[in-house]
Amino acid sequence: MSAEAIEPSAAVEPSAAVAPVAGATTRGRWPSPGRLAFGLAVLAASVVSQILFTIDPTGIGATIYAATASVFVVIAAVGPAVHGLRPMRVRIAQQASVLLMLVALLGAGLDFTLGPLKFVDFVYIAGYLGFLCWLTLAARAIGAAPQVGAYLDTTALTIGAGLALWVVVLSPLVGGSQLPQAILLSAYPMADILLLALTARLAMRQGRYLPAMAWFLASVGFLVALDICISLAVVFTPEGRIPALSGAYIFFFAGVAMSTSHPSVARLTRRPPGGPAHRRGSRRTALIVLTISPAILATVMPLNGPVDGVVRGALVAIVLVLLFVRLSRTLSALSRAESASRHRAMHDGLTGLLNRSALIDRLVELLREGASTGRTTALLFIDCDDFKHINDTWGHRAGDTLLRDIATRLPLAPPPDAVVARHGGDEFVVLASVSDAAAGEALAARVRRFFDEPLEILPGRTHAMTCSIGLAVAEPGEAVTAESLIGQADVAMYAAKGHGRNRYVVYDDALDADARLRAAVGDRLAGAISAGHFHVELQPIFAGAAGGADGSVMGGVARASEDGRIWGGRAGFDRVVGWEALARWEDPVLGRVRPDVFVPVAEQLGLIDELGEAVLRSACADLARLRQHIAGCDWWVSVNVSPSQLLRPDFAEVVAHAVDAAGVPPDRLLLEATETLLVDKGPDVLATLERVRATGVGIGIDDFGTGYATLSTLLRLPLDCVKLDRSLVAPLGSASDGSVASDVSEASDASADPDADDATRQLAAVLALVRSLGIEHIVAEGVETAAQVDILRELDCPMAQGWSFGRPRTADAVLDAGWMTI
Ligand code: C2E
Ligand code: CA
Ligand code: CA
Repeated sequence: MSAEAIEPSAAVEPSAAVAPVAGATTRGRWPSPGRLAFGLAVLAASVVSQILFTIDPTGIGATIYAATASVFVVIAAVGPAVHGLRPMRVRIAQQASVLLMLVALLGAGLDFTLGPLKFVDFVYIAGYLGFLCWLTLAARAIGAAPQVGAYLDTTALTIGAGLALWVVVLSPLVGGSQLPQAILLSAYPMADILLLALTARLAMRQGRYLPAMAWFLASVGFLVALDICISLAVVFTPEGRIPALSGAYIFFFAGVAMSTSHPSVARLTRRPPGGPAHRRGSRRTALIVLTISPAILATVMPLNGPVDGVVRGALVAIVLVLLFVRLSRTLSALSRAESASRHRAMHDGLTGLLNRSALIDRLVELLREGASTGRTTALLFIDCDDFKHINDTWGHRAGDTLLRDIATRLPLAPPPDAVVARHGGDEFVVLASVSDAAAGEALAARVRRFFDEPLEILPGRTHAMTCSIGLAVAEPGEAVTAESLIGQADVAMYAAKGHGRNRYVVYDDALDADARLRAAVGDRLAGAISAGHFHVELQPIFAGAAGGADGSVMGGVARASEDGRIWGGRAGFDRVVGWEALARWEDPVLGRVRPDVFVPVAEQLGLIDELGEAVLRSACADLARLRQHIAGCDWWVSVNVSPSQLLRPDFAEVVAHAVDAAGVPPDRLLLEATETLLVDKGPDVLATLERVRATGVGIGIDDFGTGYATLSTLLRLPLDCVKLDRSLVAPLGSASDGSVASDVSEASDASADPDADDATRQLAAVLALVRSLGIEHIVAEGVETAAQVDILRELDCPMAQGWSFGRPRTADAVLDAGWMTI
């Protein structure tokens, strides 16, 4: 292992004995004076014992050498314990390996041999194993689990070193009696190189400079060089040994002592910030050079007989095979990583479908192809309805399962060559090349129907998920960009949501105008609220003789005097009992903006609280004026509230304050909230509703019959009033589109219509259901025709509201109408 393979600063760290002592724990800091003194003492002791050993390798020199080395080994064993190296098993392996060195030193004189191996050889082998063990454990501790590649590298390196040793040191001895001993001696440098490789690997994976690591690396590097020199001496010197070299082992012990006595030894096993570092390309090159060079050496050095040839050939073959395996593994890992990262870049992690950026690429391609093939490009923007409800009710895991389920089944609906992508969240996109726009619509219809089959959200639990689809088509060669086509489909999807969901809508320019209006509304809304551009209009709610006459919340005692002109009572519904306050916005630039445009935008922008409060105050003030000016009236006013208003912790106080400020009795105010809102929001909303009711203000459910969990809502909530949605009233007495008609003959014609009969039965059932729950205040909304009025009267519906009775007007207009008490 070359110096390149270790940390640069560690590489320049001079070998143990001559180094300036690295006492600092971080790069660039000088060692403390104590550490410096300790280093100098170690250096002095090492030099002295090496000299003495060289002079007298068997007598006093050997004794002093052994004593000094023993002190170093003890320091090396104690250091990690002092500095708290953890985990325990690493410390034990480290201590065991250095203590085995001590045993080897003390037992050097023991006269025990087994074949060519002496006692010390056994101890050294055990010591090496100990070192290998602790280096491996330390690498594991920092999270650098050993990999097959690392084993291959280390083996190739070690065998490469063996090959070099064979060529240079051993092959000249082939046939001679020294060969067995020389082989044994060569085993040491090989073991050293293995050790060096593991140490260098650990140093690299540390990815940061640790003095303890640098010292250890330098010591093992020194040991490699020393063992090679000693092997060479065995072969090339007449005595077979150079005492100065044998004494130099003291520097190895000194280096190990310097390493493990350094405080940074404790950090050897701590995970480096950001995880273990990875081998850089330059280091891989160094590895290849180091393993290939011995093979080159083996081919250029002259052969010493056939045995030499066989051994060289075998070792070169092993090195090459190892390198080849390594290389092919690296290459296949590389291509795997490449294709995985390409896949990741183009696909969505959860569903495995194409992601948004890949979708845009494909769309650009498809639009370009369409220009040359003359085919139309259809883009379906699909958004799951009420997905949030799934997440909130069943948890995100169920939501994820649902998305995955859609992702596996969605591609079955469109043609096989269509592209299905996840646009984000619960939005999917289907992209297909079709013959014309009608084929695009057929595809949208097919995809929508695909959702009819319930999807599994949890094991054994299915959910009937619906979706809203926006369809945008690009005729061949049409100048439209990928982004704008997606934008068009998105606008159409938004319209599908607005038109009752579970349907598809085809994009057209009018939708775009809507989208632009919404954007303009968003820009001007905050300013309009603060500038007071909003006011309230009131739409009358009529009751018959029975309805609302019980003197409770709804009691009313007045009727319009000018029949049919502004507000007309109808037979069965002849008295005004209350009013619904509806927000109106006259904008100097946008003109009159409808509430079904600005209310959702205000909700989205978080402005609805402010707007709702303004409406509430105006409505209460208007009611106060009406009650003051119209003798004998006991009207109530209904005010619509949005979800986020009910989520405000201080909502009950806001309401109480508005009622107080206007001076109207609290029981003359009714708040209307939609059914979905009341079902969805859970305990917080319930608590708020209870607090509002405690002040005397009534709570009504709006648009009843459009949401879900209808019955349970009614059972659970404290309700004063139920407003039946227009969709229940519209089909009454006519199967037509519900255009305004006051002609009674139309009603009798239409009553023969089977759909109208169904609608009547349905409404009768709903009325019975609501009544059975003890709720008597029921208002049928959106009553437009005389036929509807007749049927409602026949069904004994207590109250009604709609254009048939009157359009919303300002409080001034109400006052001007002239009223009389009945
Ligand atoms: P809504 O609460 O269902 O209000 C009734 C809507 O139906 C009103 O529309 C009303 O003008 C309209 N309408 C009344 N009679 C008939 C009829 O016979 N036929 C038809 N086709 N429509 C009729 P408007 O004023 O456009 O309000 C639309 C929605 O905007 C309201 O629906 C309500 O949800 C919301 N909204 C209005 N004002 C406010 C407000 O102050 N706060 C909140 N949060 N929402 C409001
Ligand atoms: Ca309402
Ligand atoms: Ca309503």
